[in-house]
Amino acid sequence: MEHPENSDLYKGLTVNAGIDQPSSINPYFKRKVRKKQLSVNEFVDGIVKGDITILSQAVTLVESVKSEHQATAQEIIEKCLPYSGNSIRIGISGVPGAGKSTSIDVFGLHVLERSAGKLAVLAIDPSSERSKGSILGDKTRMEQLSVHADSFIRPSPSAGSLGGVARKTRETIILCEAAGFNKIFVETVGVGQSETAVHSMVDFFLLIQLAGTGDELQGIKRGIMEMADGIVINKADGNNIEKAKLAAAQFRNALHLFPAPDSGWQPRVLTYSGFYNHGVQEIWDMIYEYIDFVKANGYFDFRRNEQSKYWMYESINEKLRDSFYQNNVIQSMLYNQEQQVLKGTLTSFVAAKKLLDAYFNELKK
Ligand code: GDP
Repeated sequence: MEHPENSDLYKGLTVNAGIDQPSSINPYFKRKVRKKQLSVNEFVDGIVKGDITILSQAVTLVESVKSEHQATAQEIIEKCLPYSGNSIRIGISGVPGAGKSTSIDVFGLHVLERSAGKLAVLAIDPSSERSKGSILGDKTRMEQLSVHADSFIRPSPSAGSLGGVARKTRETIILCEAAGFNKIFVETVGVGQSETAVHSMVDFFLLIQLAGTGDELQGIKRGIMEMADGIVINKADGNNIEKAKLAAAQFRNALHLFPAPDSGWQPRVLTYSGFYNHGVQEIWDMIYEYIDFVKANGYFDFRRNEQSKYWMYESINEKLRDSFYQNNVIQSMLYNQEQQVLKGTLTSFVAAKKLLDAYFNELKK
């Protein structure tokens, strides 16, 4: 008897025969047919038609560290170049909490409602590699824009040095422009070096500030202020309005002490409230006035050309650095040389020369 429980001794108790265990694999699961990788021309066609999915895929290639992805990305960028350039690029900077995401949401909606075209929001956040996941350009932070049909929001590329991250963002600008985005925001945290990177790829640099207590200008790096084409004091609402106006006056005074910018444009200081949507039109008026002004005096094209030149040298520097540090011989020597410098048995210059000589010798092989 198979089951003793079924014997007459245990009347009233029946045990059914067991059944096979079900497979642990979902029978309804269909293996995804792997989409074939698009060709460079398919990418370019898709981008130029404004296909957001294809644009996103191309940006992913730009951001990839794989060399074959990089090679494809470069081909795509080159073919998109003739379609690019037709936009206004605006850098937006401010310390965390200054209200960047709130403001970008409001500025973005404002301009999309009033003018034709599309808006891309990109970011440069060199710290994002450390924090594993970008804090900037995050869709959830821009609630209204993120669901707007004419916006494209992309967080900061996360891998690599500031220069590398910035280059990828600059290349992404080209792809977005080719896809018909005629307004580009590039966001960054107001901490220093990343501003220089953003400044090197935008037409207008907007600095968001807050009115605090006491000396408003404390803690703001002079270099950042000097880059600004416009300074806007956020949170000018409620009982903060007077403080914001006072801060604006102090910024205006400070700006007058700086040498006149090459653009010939005198940077302006405005107050606004991103949260209550006050003063936003004035900010856009300022930006458009600036663009008209620099287009008329030739500075707009001059700045873009200078930026292209800057990026040529940046790309060379980046490639040379990578080639040096990724060289096997250099990698095997580096730690030892560093230790000798730390111990004082070798000067920095001699160590550097030894390493460079070794590198150049490797190249000759
Ligand atoms: P971010 O870190 O620079 O992106 O700043 P957020 O946009 O996240 O804003 C930081 C905080 O300031 C949030 O709690 C916002 O609600 C608040 N905030 C932003 N803009 C304004 C404003 O115009 N007025 C006031 N009162 N609060 C604001």
